[in-house]
Amino acid sequence: MLTDDLFSLVMDVKLTSCSICPWQWEEVSGYDENMNTIRTYQVCNVFDNNQNNWVRTKYISRRGAQRIHVEMKFSVRDCSSIPSVPGSCKETFNLYYYETDSDTANKVSPAWMENPWIKVDTIAADESFSQVDLGVRVMKINTEVRSFGPVSRQGFYLAFQDYGGCMSLIAVRIFYRKCPRVVLNGAVFPETLSGAESTSLVAARGVCVPNGEEVDVPIKLYCNGDGEWMVPIGRCMCKAGHEAVENGTVCRACGSGFFKSSQGDHLCLQCPINSRTTNEGATNCVCRNGYYRSDSDPPQIPCTTIPSAPQSVISIVNETSLRLEWSTPRDGGGREDVVYNIICKSCGGGRGGCTRCGDNVQFIPRQLGLTETSVHISDLLAHTQYTFEIQAVNGVSDQSPYSPHYSSVNITTNQAGTGNITPNMAPSAVSIMHQVSRTPDSITLSWSQPDQPNGLILDYELQYYDKSMAEWNSSVVRSQTNTAVIRGLKPGAIYVFQVRARTVAGFGRFSGKMYFQTMTEEEYKSSFQEKLPLIIGSAAAGVVLIIAVVVLVIVCNRRSSERTESEYTDKVQHYTSGHRMKIYIDPFTYEDPNEAVREFAKEIDTSCVKIEQVIGAGEFGEVCSGNLRLPGKREILVAIKTLKVGYTERQRRDFLSEASIMGQFDHPNIIHLEGVVTKSAPVMIITEFMENGSLDSFLRQNDGQFTVIQLVGMLRGIAAGMKYLNDMNYVHRDLAARNILVNSNLVCKVSDFGLSRFLEEDTSDPTYTSALGGKIPIRWTAPEAIQYRKFTSSSDGWSYGIVMWEVMSYGERPYWDMSNQDVINAIEQDYRLPPPMDCPSALHQLMLDCWQKDRNNRPKFSQIVNNLDKMIRNPNSLKAMTPLSSSVHLPLLDRSTPDFSSFSTVDEWLDAIRMGQYKENFANEEFTSFDVVSQMTTEDIIRVGVTLAGHQKKILNSVQSMRAQMNQITSVEV
Ligand code: AMP
Repeated sequence: MLTDDLFSLVMDVKLTSCSICPWQWEEVSGYDENMNTIRTYQVCNVFDNNQNNWVRTKYISRRGAQRIHVEMKFSVRDCSSIPSVPGSCKETFNLYYYETDSDTANKVSPAWMENPWIKVDTIAADESFSQVDLGVRVMKINTEVRSFGPVSRQGFYLAFQDYGGCMSLIAVRIFYRKCPRVVLNGAVFPETLSGAESTSLVAARGVCVPNGEEVDVPIKLYCNGDGEWMVPIGRCMCKAGHEAVENGTVCRACGSGFFKSSQGDHLCLQCPINSRTTNEGATNCVCRNGYYRSDSDPPQIPCTTIPSAPQSVISIVNETSLRLEWSTPRDGGGREDVVYNIICKSCGGGRGGCTRCGDNVQFIPRQLGLTETSVHISDLLAHTQYTFEIQAVNGVSDQSPYSPHYSSVNITTNQAGTGNITPNMAPSAVSIMHQVSRTPDSITLSWSQPDQPNGLILDYELQYYDKSMAEWNSSVVRSQTNTAVIRGLKPGAIYVFQVRARTVAGFGRFSGKMYFQTMTEEEYKSSFQEKLPLIIGSAAAGVVLIIAVVVLVIVCNRRSSERTESEYTDKVQHYTSGHRMKIYIDPFTYEDPNEAVREFAKEIDTSCVKIEQVIGAGEFGEVCSGNLRLPGKREILVAIKTLKVGYTERQRRDFLSEASIMGQFDHPNIIHLEGVVTKSAPVMIITEFMENGSLDSFLRQNDGQFTVIQLVGMLRGIAAGMKYLNDMNYVHRDLAARNILVNSNLVCKVSDFGLSRFLEEDTSDPTYTSALGGKIPIRWTAPEAIQYRKFTSSSDGWSYGIVMWEVMSYGERPYWDMSNQDVINAIEQDYRLPPPMDCPSALHQLMLDCWQKDRNNRPKFSQIVNNLDKMIRNPNSLKAMTPLSSSVHLPLLDRSTPDFSSFSTVDEWLDAIRMGQYKENFANEEFTSFDVVSQMTTEDIIRVGVTLAGHQKKILNSVQSMRAQMNQITSVEV
């Protein structure tokens, strides 16, 4: 309880006596019980009747109090001790109060009588006194407390009325009661005055301490008439991110590395494993890179990651059924909820030949979300190769940007089953043929296996004829693999090819007709001529665009003064740095480069490698696909780069340097090195096999077939790989779609870490133009790298922008058929590539950012990855297709729909828009003149046999542009 004095009467403070009263209270000195001198107001006129003696305090301000307490110390003389006292002698006095808003009292007002005064009580002494010791009266002091209320005016007076007693008033204290400011149950309650009655309860609202929050009901506390707080109702608790300290009077923010996820009394907890806080007062801990929480994971459990691949897969084939068994992954990612998905692919022999199995294949108990480590698969096709991937996924797999780890098995079914295949059914048609290479008298082709082989393919029959001759002149070759070299052809001639597969059930249907042309003698010679300074255009060289010409005739004025930065003369990169975890080490810093190979690449015994077929041509020899079976491990598909016979020591060193570089990297978007064969011939580099080959040709083959999100997903993968290389301090210097490989899951991986292409001597590939100190792929290279060989991760960033453009245009050649010198000039004049057809503006903007002249302004790969992640999370951001708004860059003319007037035939025009495969379709339906073609509708395009949506769109766009160009010409003529 607290009290506040309103007035304290010490008896040297004057009271006002009533002037008209019969007798007066007198101010006198006396002694208390302890014989201390005290001042008192006394009255003692017991012998006269009709006493009525008043005395009044000064004006007392109320100060908000509603009930006033009066403590009086006084003494009273015992009437019986006074000799011959009349009966009118009193031992009591009366206490009064008078309320008023101002100090207006005077000698006569308020009148000295009850009403206007209000009586509080008659005060009697507990102890009166009678003795007189040694002539000194010793008073017995009584203390009485009275209270009154409610009071509501500004202030009041108190009055004491004697009506015939003998007494002295020693002290009067006037006060009110209040409950003090307290912090209780997490809330602050202000000082609160007691109510008007002694039984009143005054409610006070609590305010939660900073960072506290009310729980359920509003927090309240009652102050009683004695100035005491009652029991609180409700409470406050520290909110998330804060804990209660100092007896619950302060809510303190959780320190770094600690968190509190909800409101409550509990303390901040330490961040669980694999998580951290970014600031104080954390409500949860964010997972470190590569670790995640599922939606149902509470914040106090560790962040977890995706599981590693299932282990020790075994397959038991029984005719057209199969049982797969495996053991749990070595690392469950820190979780208990690992389940397995089975991905079934039926594979032809060739690359790119795997397709997802149809719905007819049966999985028991099921295909996805298997909790057990085995599955029974039935209704497979007989004599067919399958690849089964057993993916391990857990509760956080869908949050990881990476596809799940899996183990795969390849099996071949061994007998015609009774499932969905009809015995004796011939294979389906081969859908696509590719040209592997050509010379003036030969063409090497490969093709994919039919989608439905319906049995073991015995061989293929390839039929071909010179397009300028009649079809009955056709020749036939047989091949037991899905590739063939056709020799004895005429130079520069177009040949028509068709292929069909044969099984025990006989020949399948022929594929559609496909056209390939042999090299002319000139082309052949020029491919061997040394050092062409600039590239001359591609197949579409005939395309001449008026606006582009205007752009390109601008004279090159590259200033020699810009060559001030020191030249990057090293042919290779050499970095040293102590403060990074892992840094790329240039193999050429080793005195003996073989030492680097030994350190970074695993030596594989040649007996473990089985070469299957040639899939491409590398710098140093053929690139093949094949199998690798390491002791104790399952067989896997691999790509094998071989070093051709008769190599020099220098070539061997350069060839193997790629393995020493690749072997230092370990990232899902960097091609993975399995090992090398150096102790026997041929020398080989063995890497993971990428079913879909290089990205540029893969996109060209699948023009228009992907969603924007799929394309952005590919770009994201490439950017993640580049970020990793950048973190390792490795500058790629040749980032281009041709150097990205794609696997069957559309995962893109950065490859080609060979150095040879940069070396002066080798000139066979016109993409790389000779420059002082090495060769440069001009179209992909940043200006500072072309001008003064400043290769950095920022110049890789420029190349990344070009890769973005290649991807969004499905493998179009950057800057089309412009010459290298024209490209250099155009870039110098701030011209930049326009957005490819259907390219979201956000992506084109990112490309333009990568092509900032000042390399410091280009985004870092980490920013690019974040940017692309945001787009993937918010696909709406990819809807806008607004035209380029930047005033800094000038767009080069968009050539995705070229000017039809530069072509003399519809066939030429179809070639230029990369839809040459439909020439026959157009001819058959008599769409052979620009007039008819320009009127084509979507229905017409479908009718001529264009079934792929992407191709329909491309042709329709080009037709519309042709129509617009025609209208322009007509109006000019008019
Ligand atoms: P490179 O010498 O690395 O440019 O390889 C030549 C060609 O072989 C590439 O363009 C690809 O088509 C193919 N190739 C190289 N490595 C692989 C691989 N790991 N998987 C599939 N194809 C590959």
